[in-house]
Amino acid sequence: MEYNEEVEVDQNESASDGQDVQIQDTDIVFDCPHCGHNLCIDYRGAGLQITCSECEEPVLVPIPDGMKISDLDLDAGELLKQLFATRRLLQRAEARAEALSLRLDSFAAKVGELQEMLQA
Ligand SMILES: [Zn+2]
Repeated sequence: MEYNEEVEVDQNESASDGQDVQIQDTDIVFDCPHCGHNLCIDYRGAGLQITCSECEEPVLVPIPDGMKISDLDLDAGELLKQLFATRRLLQRAEARAEALSLRLDSFAAKVGELQEMLQA
């Protein structure tokens, strides 16, 4: 028999602040540093960058006390999944940069128009 998940997370600090959301003992619970939204992620996400579900800012998942990154023994499928997730994140960031750049262009055009109007 084969066990992939041999990581033992210290469960002394499991969150119990009366929340209705179902949180598993192995989940990492933390607040988004950008908007303060309460985030909850599987322990295997420790040390990774995720996107906040609330403000969509990139957030670095904290590594719980007593857990080492080397403890997170990922199999190939898991690594691939994270690779895809990272790529999606990159694509989204690039799309956003492009949208902002387009907006900047249209602002610049408007400023040009205004300047022409003022000079007329
Ligand atoms: Zn956020």
